[in-house]
Amino acid sequence: MNFCPKCGCKLGESVKFCEECGADLREKILAEVYFRGFALILDYGPIFALSELILWLLSDPSPSLYNIFLFLSVYFLIGFGYFWLFEAYNNGQTIGKWVFRIRTVDTNTLEITTKKRYAINNLVRGTPLFLLDLAIGLVKNPEDPDKRIRWSQEFSKTIVVKTIK
Ligand SMILES: [Zn+2]
Repeated sequence: MNFCPKCGCKLGESVKFCEECGADLREKILAEVYFRGFALILDYGPIFALSELILWLLSDPSPSLYNIFLFLSVYFLIGFGYFWLFEAYNNGQTIGKWVFRIRTVDTNTLEITTKKRYAINNLVRGTPLFLLDLAIGLVKNPEDPDKRIRWSQEFSKTIVVKTIK
């Protein structure tokens, strides 16, 4: 059971505002940015390893358009597949998020969201557009009370929260 840090009343599971005094509790539930960063680094390990293995098996020895196409396709599929499958079928948690006890959830309900929204959330994960997604998010949302980092999170309507115990 959690208690409101301001008025001390009992709080339900995963609430954003205290029902009694209206205190903003997001600071308490949102995941710290550095934990999200660590989780991300951990998650890109297997994506990188698996993608490079497949590319090593399938690519031509000489530089070619086929290799570029293959590179983009493999990273897209592995990156998207990894993040989407884990988030959609493992309660909003990838391996990295599980290790650092954080979870991607619906912005409003703070519950697990739909498979479609998890798909939108991770569409550009394995593509060069990921850097653009991150850059736009960092420029747009530095003061965001929901601590959204990537631009995609506005479309997927998700936030990243700490898991309780
Ligand atoms: Zn309160």
